[in-house]
Amino acid sequence: MSEVVNLVCSPEEAQDLLFLEQRIREALQLKPQDELDFRWRKRSIDARQRQIKVNASFEVAVNAVLAPRFAFQNFAALGPDAPVVHIIGAGPAGLFAALQALTQGIKPIVFERGKEVRARRRDLAKLTKSHELNPESNYCFGEGGAGTYSDGKLYTRSKKRGDVQKVLEWLVQFGAKEDILIDAHPHIGTNKLPQLIEAIRQQILAAGGEIHFEHKLTDLRVSNKRITNIQINGTTEIPVHRVILATGHSARDIFELLKDKNIAIKAKPFALGVRVEHTQAYIDGLQYHGRLNDDYLPPASYSLVTQVDNRGVYSFCMCPGGIIAPCATADGEVVTNGWSPSKRNNIYANSGIVVGIEPSDFPNANDPFVCLDFQKDIEHKCWMAAGQTQKVPAQGLADFVNGIKSEAFPRSSYQPGIVSVNLKEVFPAFVYDRLRQAFLDFDKKMPGFITNDAVVHAPESRTSSPVLIPRDPLSFQHTQITNLYPIAEGAGYAGGIVSAAIDGLNCIEKIATQQVSP
Ligand SMILES: Cc1cc2nc3c(=O)[nH]c(=O)nc-3n(C[C@H](O)[C@H](O)[C@H](O)COP(=O)(O)OP(=O)(O)OC[C@H]3O[C@@H](n4cnc5c(N)ncnc54)[C@H](O)[C@@H]3O)c2cc1C
Repeated sequence: MSEVVNLVCSPEEAQDLLFLEQRIREALQLKPQDELDFRWRKRSIDARQRQIKVNASFEVAVNAVLAPRFAFQNFAALGPDAPVVHIIGAGPAGLFAALQALTQGIKPIVFERGKEVRARRRDLAKLTKSHELNPESNYCFGEGGAGTYSDGKLYTRSKKRGDVQKVLEWLVQFGAKEDILIDAHPHIGTNKLPQLIEAIRQQILAAGGEIHFEHKLTDLRVSNKRITNIQINGTTEIPVHRVILATGHSARDIFELLKDKNIAIKAKPFALGVRVEHTQAYIDGLQYHGRLNDDYLPPASYSLVTQVDNRGVYSFCMCPGGIIAPCATADGEVVTNGWSPSKRNNIYANSGIVVGIEPSDFPNANDPFVCLDFQKDIEHKCWMAAGQTQKVPAQGLADFVNGIKSEAFPRSSYQPGIVSVNLKEVFPAFVYDRLRQAFLDFDKKMPGFITNDAVVHAPESRTSSPVLIPRDPLSFQHTQITNLYPIAEGAGYAGGIVSAAIDGLNCIEKIATQQVSP
């Protein structure tokens, strides 16, 4: 039997095992001869006051040994007659759907347009160094999906949607540190994610599933409200019984394909804005009340939100100790996003600052592509403004707020390069004015946030899908096509690694309760 002991201590005390043991003994009023086994259960930092605190929670066993934190999942080998599910996309949603299929005795066959995680890394290097963009292999497309070269932040607000704990435990089973089960805002880090994704692939293959890289879904044959065949790479036709569509928010050709086939899709609100970068030391100073280079505190993060003119403006995917990455998927556009290594030990701190965009912001609100077209337009304008390469337009943050072009900037982590542009001339007023006011509000919440030592990069545009693929909320079947299961971020049902993975798990649960024939 274990029990829980909660303590509040300083960051220094939180790293002192002898101190912690003593406090736990006092809390439980143990005798000196009692044996104690304890481990971290939950950990969060409260830096709201000058006296920074750690909220610490421990699992404790007295005169006993703690049981393992959780039992590893057994992915048994599939039988020869296992029913099959075809999964399009090997992002978090597709891979977790494939793993969950194995637990249900269903054979997953995954088609992924991009390359294996290692080969993909070479394409990212070409993109960063020589602006060569491979439309099939980039920060959004390839094994592990958009989350592979990310910060691997695993915090999700979508706890109601499903089993966050199961996703985290499986990530630990495939190589993540147990810390992700403890920290209030867990993350894995770009350098650790590729091995983990490879371990998931090896498990899927070992149990009898299939994963095919450089296999892009290019067409669908539909008859009687069912998909009968999928076409891969423009040639191979494959008969299918059920298809999970987990293609992510950047698969614009998939949205086009569904539209061409008269398969229902709708415009969906999304968010768009900029990615702002300060130095990490500067953010540490603001958040930790001037405590700098502190070995007892992790690189500080922030989460900011305000309402401007009846619309939410908020920080998105903040990467402490991170890098801004080029995340375009086609020529003629630029897109930014951010990642961090596991130690978050880069000298910069970046975050998206984005404004909610609604279909009703545009005259043709009923057009399913109204938000997608706006997203494309901004990405193209930024590409034009910065010289038609993977360089992005940029501005000092104070200059952004004052609407003036920057004469000079500090260095930026965005390796393809930045070009001075007055972003007021790139964004329409309904976006620029809200961003500007939001920065002024954020500067009241975090005095000093606005400075020309911070650089605004544009655009941050792939926050979520601008298109919804409608499905029945109970069965997850597309509202028209009964054997099509649109899931996760691309279909509009998830935002982030964990919620996408949960949607993959939930989808297989739905399929397993339906009649599963070969
Ligand atoms: C740089 C970066 C950093 C990020 N950081 C974080 C973070 O720290 N934490 C977090 O929670 N989220 C982060 N995200 C967002 C996160 O990655 C996504 O929310 C998540 O990956 C969505 O999962 P998904 O499976 O729905 O789609 P995706 O991950 O987008 O995967 C879709 C997959 O489908 C494939 N595909 C597309 N079209 C086809 C086709 N026609 N045929 C076959 N395959 C196809 C794609 O190649 C891709 O691999 C980040 C994203 C980026 C780009």
